[in-house]
Amino acid sequence: MTMKKKDTLLILWVCRFDAVIHFAGLKAVGESVQKPLLYYNNNLIGTITLLEVMGAHGCKNLVFSSSATVYGWPKEVPCTEEFPLCAVNPYGRTKLFIEEICRDVYRSNSDWKIILLRYFNPVGAHPSGHIGEDPRGIPNNLMPFVQQVAVGRRPALTVFGNDYSTKDGTGVRDYIHIVDLSDGHVAALQKLFDGSNIGCGVYNLGTGKGTSVLEMVAAFEKASGKKIPLVMAGRRPGDAEIVYASTDKAEKELNWRAKYGIEEMCRDQWNWANKNPWGYGTPDSAN
Ligand code: UDP
Repeated sequence: MTMKKKDTLLILWVCRFDAVIHFAGLKAVGESVQKPLLYYNNNLIGTITLLEVMGAHGCKNLVFSSSATVYGWPKEVPCTEEFPLCAVNPYGRTKLFIEEICRDVYRSNSDWKIILLRYFNPVGAHPSGHIGEDPRGIPNNLMPFVQQVAVGRRPALTVFGNDYSTKDGTGVRDYIHIVDLSDGHVAALQKLFDGSNIGCGVYNLGTGKGTSVLEMVAAFEKASGKKIPLVMAGRRPGDAEIVYASTDKAEKELNWRAKYGIEEMCRDQWNWANKNPWGYGTPDSAN
């Protein structure tokens, strides 16, 4: 979503805000390589506009959705918040630049309190089955793709690489249930208001556990009772081998830790998919 200055001004003129959670941004890695300026314009300019307007209206408390992508291809795991940062595509660079912008904003004025949350791999859906992810076009991410295979919208999952030096050769990630992720934001907001000298702080939001593609598929098959046909393919360019979080800092300082494992993630993802095989659309509107 592109945030225009006049929209944010209008909102801030009508209401007073204690804090802002900034989730907005384009997030498709492949698209960012094709259209870098779109990503820089939307993600960076949108954030700068938001920060300017917040500052002008005396609202200096921010929680920002960053990403584990800022660790690039980590040399070791688990990733701690102190790891060197690097970006491997324009999308990742927007997250990295926004983190740096936030650090500079805080350095310029220590009234700001900013928490950068580095998301690992959010999956699952709301347990009600009414709220879930519904990407447009061919899903880039593993779980929306698996879900579309399970409901018959796509014939098979392509597994990108089975020659990694992982337990079964497939890529390993730290999947986190979106309900845990949301709770992480509540914990971050509480931290902003608990009197701590937070400055511009950064926290990983993950489970601390690595799960391979094949393990995730097996868990989804168990939750759904559906067979997911697989096609083994080469590595996806730019993919890291193993990425998972150290969660110590969030546990200690935000008093937050993920409650759910991949079983619950797959259960809730399947519940959403089964109730809404076409997401928020219809067979005609989906592609
Ligand atoms: N993956 C896959 N097939 C797909 C999509 C993803 O095998 O259609 C793999 C991918 O190579 C990675 C893991 O699933 O090892 C998670 O990919 P995703 O794009 O969901 O997250 P990211 O790579 O951004 O962490």
